[in-house]
Amino acid sequence: MTYDNNNIFAKILRGEIPCEKIYEDEYVLSFHDITPRKKIHVLVIPKGKYINLDDFNQKASNDEIVGLSKGISIVAKKLGISSEKGKGYRTLSNISEHGGQEVPHLHFHLFGGEKVGKMVE
Ligand code: AMP
Repeated sequence: MTYDNNNIFAKILRGEIPCEKIYEDEYVLSFHDITPRKKIHVLVIPKGKYINLDDFNQKASNDEIVGLSKGISIVAKKLGISSEKGKGYRTLSNISEHGGQEVPHLHFHLFGGEKVGKMVE
């Protein structure tokens, strides 16, 4: 599978469509999910063109991998849901067909602000 430059998150990264931005640095962009499933539901995406976590771990540099991992914690802290500042959250990345991935640009969901509930249905 090749990366689709026209996926919605690629367009957000290029500034072609808006997002409700929470945080941005050299490695990541974070914004609110357009259809929140919990009180707090945000996304953290790498700036590089990676389809999913497997693609990312195969092709990304170590700096990008660390940047994304740390980016998740930075965003959680900023939102007051980190284990240090708040009551915690769930992070989730859907990978390909069985994972239920809809947007083919790697993203981590962060759910919080309330009890998140069962791990899987
Ligand atoms: P996934 O099923 O893991 O690929 O999740 C894709 C997520 O992207 C869903 O939770 C959507 O609600 C969210 N989404 C789709 N379009 C946008 C958008 N323009 N801005 C913010 N979130 C979006």
